[in-house]
Amino acid sequence: MIETKSLWTAETLFAKLKNIQTDNPLCAYSLEKCQRLVPTINKILRLKEEKKALILAHTYVHPDIIYTVADHVGDSYHLAKMAKDTEAETIVFPAVRFMAETAKILNPEKTVLDPNPNGGCSLADSISYEELKALRAEFPGHTFVCYINTTAAIKSLCDVCVTSSNVYQIIEDLPSDKIYFLPDRLMGQNIKNVLEKKGIKKDFRFFHGSCYVHEEFQEKEIDLIKEQYPNVEILAHPECTPQVVAHASFVGSTTALLEYVKKSTEKKNPFLLLTECGVASRLQIECPEATMVGACMTCKYMRSNSLDGILQALQSPSPAQIVTIPPEVQQGALACIEAMFRFSRK
Ligand code: SF4
Repeated sequence: MIETKSLWTAETLFAKLKNIQTDNPLCAYSLEKCQRLVPTINKILRLKEEKKALILAHTYVHPDIIYTVADHVGDSYHLAKMAKDTEAETIVFPAVRFMAETAKILNPEKTVLDPNPNGGCSLADSISYEELKALRAEFPGHTFVCYINTTAAIKSLCDVCVTSSNVYQIIEDLPSDKIYFLPDRLMGQNIKNVLEKKGIKKDFRFFHGSCYVHEEFQEKEIDLIKEQYPNVEILAHPECTPQVVAHASFVGSTTALLEYVKKSTEKKNPFLLLTECGVASRLQIECPEATMVGACMTCKYMRSNSLDGILQALQSPSPAQIVTIPPEVQQGALACIEAMFRFSRK
């Protein structure tokens, strides 16, 4: 759990965030910017207590949300677990829509608020219900495994859900030897490579979606960084291309990457993190002895969350901010997510 304070001043906020050093001015903080943010932060903190709300924030949203109003911060698996276990009556979920939907599927009786209801996700938006129905008809003997980055309707048609924290382990452990994975073709190819290296023989097929952020990382940029920093250690998210992943000494989820750097004894060497910039920002605050190199790549969907949006959702949510799941989708989507918790060894 991230430490939160009951009240912030511009000075305490700036002291917290000033270590974020980035080539992206939108991600950096000045004292003036902190002065503008603090009144909204303190309003959210008061309202959150009054309404007994829980705020779950993904690592890719702005640090001014993560370090002030969020009760828990993490990747989609960690946040799904927090949503499953909470006793709060209201959950506010600054992230992207499919994550807020997951919280609602796990808590149908609670109020789940999505402060940024128009934020999409290039992966979740890549496959339609009709496409999936056609695939199920084409591959009737396959177990359909969906990445958590899918809509509730897509989950309702799949057998088990996975996240980047557990995807390799669950696919390896599944008793079926015919797997259809969706929607990420890059993660699909990375999983296929790992299974083949381990000598595991499964008929493994995957859909053609991708994450526009992780797909952007290119080998030629990695080569340039290596020239400049010969001792650089490269860490990658499994949504990157297999060519890029091949350069990495460690591949893992957002949480796994954070933990890897925090535990590393070689912090004298710089790290190149091939993932959204939020991971590097968190490390600059939580592990200041580590050095990060490389460009700051942000997800436009995650970054369209704001403190103003959270405050407005808590004060008077619009109908679009109140997450609802159609009854015909709820049961199937819940079964798909519960299968993940059952199969996950974590
Ligand atoms: S980083 Fe990629 S997968 Fe994650 S929300 Fe953004 S577009 Fe979707």
